[in-house]
Amino acid sequence: MDFSLSDDQKMIVETAQKVGAHYGLDYWRTIDKAEEFPHEFWRAVCDAGLCGAALPETDGGSGLGMLDLVLIIEALAAGGGGSTVGQLFMINPIFGGVSMSRFGQPGLRAEMLPKIISGEMNACMALTEPDAGSNTLEIRSFAAADGDGWRLRGQKIWITGVPDAQKMLVVARTRKLEPGMRRTAGLSMFMIDVEREGLTWSRIDKLGTHTLASCTVFFDDVRIEPGELVGTLDGGWTELLDVLNTERLVTTAGLVGTGQLAIKLAVDYANNRKIFADRPIGSYQGLQFPLAQCHAEIESARVLNYKAASNYDQGLPYGSEANWGKLLAAQAVSRATERSMQTMGGMGFARDSHVERLWRDCRLFRFAPVSEEMVLNYIAVHDLGMPRGY
Ligand SMILES: Cc1cc2nc3c(=O)[nH]c(=O)nc-3n(C[C@H](O)[C@H](O)[C@H](O)COP(=O)(O)OP(=O)(O)OC[C@H]3O[C@@H](n4cnc5c(N)ncnc54)[C@H](O)[C@@H]3O)c2cc1C
Repeated sequence: MDFSLSDDQKMIVETAQKVGAHYGLDYWRTIDKAEEFPHEFWRAVCDAGLCGAALPETDGGSGLGMLDLVLIIEALAAGGGGSTVGQLFMINPIFGGVSMSRFGQPGLRAEMLPKIISGEMNACMALTEPDAGSNTLEIRSFAAADGDGWRLRGQKIWITGVPDAQKMLVVARTRKLEPGMRRTAGLSMFMIDVEREGLTWSRIDKLGTHTLASCTVFFDDVRIEPGELVGTLDGGWTELLDVLNTERLVTTAGLVGTGQLAIKLAVDYANNRKIFADRPIGSYQGLQFPLAQCHAEIESARVLNYKAASNYDQGLPYGSEANWGKLLAAQAVSRATERSMQTMGGMGFARDSHVERLWRDCRLFRFAPVSEEMVLNYIAVHDLGMPRGY
């Protein structure tokens, strides 16, 4: 087991650090306030060849591994963007890229992937429904056969990046659940245009992650063309899980970078702020210990995520490690941003301190893209062999 980075990996990280630093804290503070998509940042990421890092060279990517991608995201997130950087990689190279490179049909794959990699096209992913929530198998959106294609009806909620996306990966039922049928059967994935007759959306007012709009989406008889089916008709469940597990890796990487940034901001502040004595508040163990604890926790999540990514690259099972890493990272970073704010006292509450944005944004990842309770359910059932309690 070798934890050292190769020279190539060091170079990639350096490139990502440069892009991350160029679009630093003030850039993110401005677009967060304006609730604008980080177009300039994402263009720079794509121009530096980082978006397509883990996508195949035959599709215009760099053909590097998932571990390389994880390193890139950590460095970019630590530059100022925080956990939103993980989400950007989630919606574009994962939902738009991995889904197509692994399961897309040749025509759409050739049309989409170069544009996703160059940043000319953005994607989003529509899985969650108001009445199904974490119980994905209860989704009701239904794509009924219509000639050579389908007609989609239904509703989704919390779909992120819709206003700035051209393509949407939609998960729908293509067979109604019948008695005796496995609940995992009858699900399919489609890649459709966001601008299409019958597809409407409205923006949800929310606590954080303001640069990426989250929306309710309505499908009213939306036509789906045959070439837009992604993967196997009626058999999309396991293919969907394949896409979702890679989503965990990029989420965790974004969180790890956020945790490092939050701790750095707190340490810089504490080492310069003098109160009560001629020594900085950073010398008080009451402030040091919680930050030191958070540091150890974030580094643990980081190592776990490296193992998951490395397993993925070697074609080994990685689902459990990906879930453990995401669980620990979301909790650790939630604490780290909270402790960072506490360390700064009143200044932590000021937007200029930046930590309030990191704190707001990272809170999301304790219940999305999968909630910590559902990860614990997974661990209890799949890793520990306990009976399913729900
Ligand atoms: C800002 C934001 C962005 C998002 N972006 C997207 C996106 O782009 N695409 C997309 O498809 N979805 C997206 N989501 C949806 C997200 O994945 C869901 O919110 C998440 O999966 C949880 O589902 P829910 O909100 O319906 O909670 P629910 O499923 O209603 O759960 C509520 C609570 O009950 C707990 N719970 C539920 N079942 C169990 C159980 N069996 N055992 C123990 N506890 C349980 C949950 O852990 C949670 O704490 C986003 C959500 C948010 C808030």
